[in-house]
Amino acid sequence: MGLATACILEQDPTGEFRHMIHDEVDKWVDQIIDEVFEDGKEPTVMELSQLFSETKQKFFGACFQALIEQKYAGLLEQEYAPCPQCGKMCKKRRGNLKQMVTMQGPSVLKRPWFYCVNCSYGFSPLDKALEISRKKYQFDVQKKSTRTAAEVPFSSGSELFEELTDHPVSDHFMHDTFEEVGEYACLEDVIPSQEEIIARYQGVNESSWRPVLVVASDGAHVPTRPKAKRNEKRGRGQWQEAKGFRIYLLGKDRIAHVASWHQIQNEEQFGEDLSFVASRIPQDDLRIGLLGDGADWLWKHMVACFPKGRQILDYFHCAEHIHKVAKLQYGEKSQKCLEWVESTITRLFYAEVDNVIWGLQRMKPRDSLAKEEIRKLIGYLQNNRERIHYRGDRIGGYPIGSGGIESANKFICHTRMKRSGAWWVKETGNEMLGTRCAIYNGTYGKIFEKYKNAQIPL
Ligand SMILES: [Zn+2]
Repeated sequence: MGLATACILEQDPTGEFRHMIHDEVDKWVDQIIDEVFEDGKEPTVMELSQLFSETKQKFFGACFQALIEQKYAGLLEQEYAPCPQCGKMCKKRRGNLKQMVTMQGPSVLKRPWFYCVNCSYGFSPLDKALEISRKKYQFDVQKKSTRTAAEVPFSSGSELFEELTDHPVSDHFMHDTFEEVGEYACLEDVIPSQEEIIARYQGVNESSWRPVLVVASDGAHVPTRPKAKRNEKRGRGQWQEAKGFRIYLLGKDRIAHVASWHQIQNEEQFGEDLSFVASRIPQDDLRIGLLGDGADWLWKHMVACFPKGRQILDYFHCAEHIHKVAKLQYGEKSQKCLEWVESTITRLFYAEVDNVIWGLQRMKPRDSLAKEEIRKLIGYLQNNRERIHYRGDRIGGYPIGSGGIESANKFICHTRMKRSGAWWVKETGNEMLGTRCAIYNGTYGKIFEKYKNAQIPL
């Protein structure tokens, strides 16, 4: 090879890469030929697909490795590198093998390793440039496995992951990575930024009326248990309330989700979190509807955070209470029961709360159970008198029922948290809730990015 050709080759890593890939293709083709063209064999589509699944990882993993070797040849051959901490020039110690698995398959990189004696610090410039994870499974796998773990239990998650991607990841890997990523699911990042919220609001602002922002709060019970050390008996479980809210925009004919946040936490923390989210919302540009059931803690904080909000007692919760009284007083599905429910709800629809209370006070309870329910309903209506005006809400374009929060609760809490046999340590439970909220809010990518950046060495 002449000097000129050698120079051209050196400057053209793409040519070398092409050669390496051709070699890999040949190896792969050989494998396929052996399997497929054997005498008498007539593989079906499914069998061929299975063969591709089995062979492609090795093939792509090798291509992947070849690509890095050519693209980052400079870093792989580096003899000296400055210490990222003190800047001192360090000489290469040894070549160090890095086994890694990406979604494309397994690869091995032999990259130089440096050690600064001043700082007692070991480093590899290639790891930083390529953002290589210290784990064997790289960040692309970690991102998908964590996303999977947010949907299904860790054990079935790892099975499902292998089934769908042909990558065997253990449930331990899935669990540990989930916990590490979940630490970054904090309120600040799970909630979309102010710019993002404004963009969503502009997306639904198509009529001359200011759009309605709905803030719906609720609690859901989650099974929890105290943290136990290894080999230690688990403590007694208890149900704790995950308090949360969902905020969404009502456009002319569609709903735009803004933010969900649920945590196992006390009332004060709920208030602080809601207040933080409220500060990101341009409240003056919106009409605001506050939705909730009768719980006092939730109204206290919603009103403090959205002082101009219109308070609306959730219609479905309200109707539930009415049905309960009707059932006990008149018997389930009796004509009288149906009539009373219908007339009571109609009166409430027209904001005739005092009328309904008056009627209840005059009702002759059928038995002590009915008496107690009637007493409770009177108290409930008195407490929420100012929040019952469904006809006015309808006319103004406000929602009357928090179907929104119910479905969010179901999606965020119940489907993953309330599986049989699942008892959550509060911290892990909150990481799970935070991660699920991030997925729902469209901020999971941002959470993962923060986790990833914190893992990359200096
Ligand atoms: Zn140093």
